[in-house]
Amino acid sequence: MRLLSSNFKLGVLGGGQLGKMLAQAASRWDLALWILDESRDFPAGNVCTNFVEGNFREYQDVLEFGRQVDVLTIEIESVNSEALFKLQEEGITIHPRPEALAIIQDKGLQKEFFRDHGLPTSAFTLWGSGEAIRQAVQDGELRLPFVQKARKGGYDGRGVAVIRTQADLEKLLPGPSVVEDLVDIDKELAVIAARNPGGQVESFPAVEMVFNPEANLVEWLLCPAQIDPAIEQRAEELARATIEAFQLSGLLAVELFLTPDGEVLVNEVAPRPHNSGHQTIEGCYTSQFEQHLRGILNLPLGSTRIKAPSVMVNLLGEPGYEGPVEYAGFEDCIAIEGVFPHIYGKAITKPYRKMGHVTVIDPDLEGAKEKARLVQQKLKVIA
Ligand code: ADP
Repeated sequence: MRLLSSNFKLGVLGGGQLGKMLAQAASRWDLALWILDESRDFPAGNVCTNFVEGNFREYQDVLEFGRQVDVLTIEIESVNSEALFKLQEEGITIHPRPEALAIIQDKGLQKEFFRDHGLPTSAFTLWGSGEAIRQAVQDGELRLPFVQKARKGGYDGRGVAVIRTQADLEKLLPGPSVVEDLVDIDKELAVIAARNPGGQVESFPAVEMVFNPEANLVEWLLCPAQIDPAIEQRAEELARATIEAFQLSGLLAVELFLTPDGEVLVNEVAPRPHNSGHQTIEGCYTSQFEQHLRGILNLPLGSTRIKAPSVMVNLLGEPGYEGPVEYAGFEDCIAIEGVFPHIYGKAITKPYRKMGHVTVIDPDLEGAKEKARLVQQKLKVIA
């Protein structure tokens, strides 16, 4: 293997927590991993091989960085895709491939892609402005309720407006957007699929997301998802079909809605490691981060089998605290068997900021849930 302990360089656009965990996986194989992001104080700063300061949204910064590496990947979608097209022309290997990334960066194109490839998703229409939507509602062309999503730039629930009543029309987002049917959701699931350029495809077991309604962030994630085996199979099948449709290498996180009548719909996708795959580090034979490396470097994909049922808890900044971070209750938590905190390394906490996560494993999912509740009671991100 020429890639290991060599001059080979893997470049990553983005140096947040996903970049950090990707660098940790690369380090186990002594694979040189370079990161581009604005400040080496970011989470990946002190774990990667080389940190280059620059802005992954800027054409020139991405171009210069990309020219220094052998394979280029991302840990965030909002990168400069024009620069990626240029680098691809110049012969740099890029995963996800820029054509697919450009579709995924635009929620409107993403929905059209699902529809055109026969991937089940909620019905939708595309709109140029919030005003046009308001007018259409007034004219009776568009009926409540619906969900409006900004075509570009949204993440973690920002850029999503749920419009149920006339009064909610105040919340309409201004720019180009997608309007989709409000789905009756029984459970939100996610399946991370992986593919390598040779065409091998694997999927991780489905996870079940439990949201914090105030922060609109995933609070808990259960693996395996508590669903019927036929639904599990359907969810994995859909994720595999989706990564094949996009012809991506590396990971594709596929967020799914399960409806009360057992239908599974694709909500949205992310072509990179994902919050819904953190538990794979301790819970599965292969972590999502190592699987991404395998996929983009055209290596055999690893087994996605579960080693132990797990619960993943996001560590969010406590409301009411802002400043230099302190992790109260950390000692009590690590005294519990099967509790694995991941502290991302953000110096300043803010209400609901994602500061880390904790994966709890146990031979039994109910046992993992009990320990996760303890962790939630004890561990507080304060200032
Ligand atoms: P983001 O990219 O910001 O995470 P999502 O598309 O995942 O945006 O939407 C955020 C959340 O909003 C989802 O997890 C889900 O709870 C809710 N949501 C999104 N689309 C719909 C829909 N069509 N029907 C019902 N709820 C939805």
